[in-house]
Amino acid sequence: MRVGIGYDVHVLEAGRPLVLGGVRVPYDRGLVGHSDADVLTHALVDALLGAAALGTIGEHFPDTDPRFRGISSLELLAESTRLLEEAGWRVVNVDAVISAQEPRLQPHLRSMAEALAGPLRVDPTCVGVKATSPEGLGALGRREGISAQAVALLEPKP
Ligand code: MG
Repeated sequence: MRVGIGYDVHVLEAGRPLVLGGVRVPYDRGLVGHSDADVLTHALVDALLGAAALGTIGEHFPDTDPRFRGISSLELLAESTRLLEEAGWRVVNVDAVISAQEPRLQPHLRSMAEALAGPLRVDPTCVGVKATSPEGLGALGRREGISAQAVALLEPKP
């Protein structure tokens, strides 16, 4: 088996949609990025690629490439799953934690796990998504951004 870790952070800005784990979360601010800036899904992509030693999200989906402008990060996740399966692996489970001062994410966590399970090609019971508060500390505590960490476990395809 192989384990991978991923981390990402994006800046919050007024008037943008907030997308986390493929779910549109109601809030007056959203994350800034070339794609939909889905920080949770980006952390997962890096965890998957890292576990299979297939490089990084920046290598596979460069923010200089117009193909990825405004794209749903679930598409990047689906392509990452395809890449690791091509390399002889499949996903056993993933787990992730979002750090956000606002908004309250608890009511959306189950929807995120369900949205992520499809492109990961696993059952939603194999997708852990949690949220924690930075308790007002630092840039995240000042609501200047949102970060996410993820781990992924892979096993050889039968
Ligand atoms: Mg990112």
